[in-house]
Amino acid sequence: MAGRSALQALDLLSGIVDPQSAPQLLADRLADRLGEAGGEALVRDPMGWLLRRGLVQRQACPDRRCDDGIRLDTRGDCPGCAAVKADLRAVRARIQAEVDADLAGTGSARLRAVYEERLRQHTVLEADRTRARHARAAAEVKGRLAAVARRREAEEAAELQRRSAACSECGLPGAAGLCPDCAYRRRTDHLVREAVDLAIAVRADLDDPAQVAALTERCETDTRALITDVSRRTGEALAAFTGREVAERIRDERRASALRRLLSSAEAEAEADAVYDTVLRHRPRGRQAAQAAADDARRRTAQHLLERKLGQLQVLRVRVAAGRLPQRAA
Ligand SMILES: [Zn+2]
Ligand SMILES: [Zn+2]
Repeated sequence: MAGRSALQALDLLSGIVDPQSAPQLLADRLADRLGEAGGEALVRDPMGWLLRRGLVQRQACPDRRCDDGIRLDTRGDCPGCAAVKADLRAVRARIQAEVDADLAGTGSARLRAVYEERLRQHTVLEADRTRARHARAAAEVKGRLAAVARRREAEEAAELQRRSAACSECGLPGAAGLCPDCAYRRRTDHLVREAVDLAIAVRADLDDPAQVAALTERCETDTRALITDVSRRTGEALAAFTGREVAERIRDERRASALRRLLSSAEAEAEADAVYDTVLRHRPRGRQAAQAAADDARRRTAQHLLERKLGQLQVLRVRVAAGRLPQRAA
């Protein structure tokens, strides 16, 4: 109860000052109010006191940033309150002047009585206006709180719905859309696809969809068998977890092996030779530098070739899936 009130008070403050300083303001207000009440010892009904006094903003003037004559945002004296006091002085002076003019020549006791009566009337009228203003402000606050509550409710409902969504793979309820087991399996499947692609990209004729399909099937079967085999030896309980780790290792090994294969490809060879010659032409005695640059070029070319082949394979797979096989060159 007090917690919710404190949250509401924080929400209200956050609408007036920047949200970071709202908690400190609330704590200061609580300390001030406790001081007024004579310290904690004199607060007999702490809950009621918190809800009605401790946490509540006391707006002393029409400015909604005013809390007991102190501005919530600047923490200085409230100019609104100063204006109200100045107004009061002006009102008194005006009424005095009116009474003096209206009743010129009357005795001072009568003048005093009329002045007091007119001031009283003015005060009643002003109090009515203030009440109306406060009612409007209260309605406004209520509206703001209601909006905050509605937003919270909507957020909670959305969160609940998100968490209660069944696993899209196995249908397990309350799995936030994907249960841990299926998430592991999905990640493993992805790794297997990558591992297979890395093998196919450097071994298959990427213009031959039938060969790619056959190799893919065989390679995937082999890869999965390998994962199962290694996982089984590691431990049944962690099968899903280890499966993913094993798949990751296989994928990394396939990448390294694919790159090794491409390092000795004709393209990499040609690129390395060209760079070697170029460097030597500029520095006839720089054989070591030429060799280093050639090795570098060979690695870069192998990487580039691998990316290109993986891209080609991707395009081929998409085409096959869409039923649009490429025309084989005769
Ligand atoms: Zn004020
Ligand atoms: Zn699942």
